[in-house]
Amino acid sequence: MKYSSISAIPITAVKKEINEKIWLSSPHMGEHEMQYLRTAYRSNWIAPLGPFVDGFENDLENYLGEEVHVAALNSGTSAIHLALILSDVGVDDYVICQSMTFAASANPIRYVGAIPVFVDSESNSWNMDPEQLEKAIQWCIARGKKPKAIIPVHLYGMPAAMERICEIAKNYKINVIEDAAEALGSDIGGKKCGTWGDFGILSFNGNKIITTSGGGALVSKNADAIVKARYLSTQARDSAVHYQHSVIGYNYRLSNICAAIGRGQMEVLDKHVIQHRKNFRKYFYELLDIPQIHFQNEPGDSYSNRWLTSIIIDDSINNGKSRHTLYEHLAVLNIESRPVWKPLHMQPVFESYPFFSNEVSVSEQFFKQGLCLPSGSNLAEEQTDFVINEIKEHFLL
Ligand SMILES: *Cc1c(COP(=O)(O)O)cnc(C)c1O
Repeated sequence: MKYSSISAIPITAVKKEINEKIWLSSPHMGEHEMQYLRTAYRSNWIAPLGPFVDGFENDLENYLGEEVHVAALNSGTSAIHLALILSDVGVDDYVICQSMTFAASANPIRYVGAIPVFVDSESNSWNMDPEQLEKAIQWCIARGKKPKAIIPVHLYGMPAAMERICEIAKNYKINVIEDAAEALGSDIGGKKCGTWGDFGILSFNGNKIITTSGGGALVSKNADAIVKARYLSTQARDSAVHYQHSVIGYNYRLSNICAAIGRGQMEVLDKHVIQHRKNFRKYFYELLDIPQIHFQNEPGDSYSNRWLTSIIIDDSINNGKSRHTLYEHLAVLNIESRPVWKPLHMQPVFESYPFFSNEVSVSEQFFKQGLCLPSGSNLAEEQTDFVINEIKEHFLL
């Protein structure tokens, strides 16, 4: 038995020695990735172009539906950067961004010299609060500049209130850049995340629901914009025999080697989503009896890939148990958990920018109390059992 305790030896010491690290979400290869890699290698397409890049784009287009076009890129961050450029965002323009997210959602706003305006979360989905979004838009307009883009995020795979957000954006004629880096496989009423905005962005970094080791994609219904993204991502070379350039380009295209892994991962994406949702359900039902623990809701007709199961640990119950003590308890046992994203308006690098908040900031509260639990599709049943037992032990004993 991997996790049994031996009496007379402190229980945590024993467990620390014997259990393998339990990761938050680690790469999970399927059956065909290696075979496709070999094919790429043998064909000598070891370059940021090639048949697997085209094939991977096709796979994503077919998966997402809605007649979208896809440019495969080397990261989700570069996809956001190109989406901003294609939305004509420049120096001193306003871009509205969800505050509770990974820094990569907002860094590209600064790459183009624009000004981020941060917006609080709603407690329902944990994502961009449409009411605060509208206040932020009006604030920008009152200062003489309509925002050029809005960046909502589907945190941990949970869809943001896209119907409302897109409606508001449409009223003001502002582009929506949908950060679906964590939400491949999620949808709202059957319409996939990544296809709601004028642009959608995806990430295939190492710990995402599928991975190419590093990679990303830009998604849009606008075919011309995607053609332009491919052009910008390959150094903006004009069609001339000699190297000619009329605009500034970027080296953002996905490697054919990474795309080979991506094609294999697309075959197991649905399986991963099912497994991530299964992890969530197990945590949910097993931890139902702990009054201090609340889960991220799946509002309305949202369907989340449950990339990371995230919990709120209510700190108004004063028993000395908190997000922090649980984090420490798990860390000692070699179990990786992670506090929810620190809101960007609280980050030293972004704290001087405006923030539109509810009276009591939802994102700040969630940051104090939120924790992401091990959620990988490759976790063994006994590993989630172990994590759950330790959480129970922490709160109930
Ligand atoms: C991972 C992530 C990104 C960035 O993607 P990379 O491929 O790592 O550049 C952007 N936004 C969010 C919300 C993410 O989780």
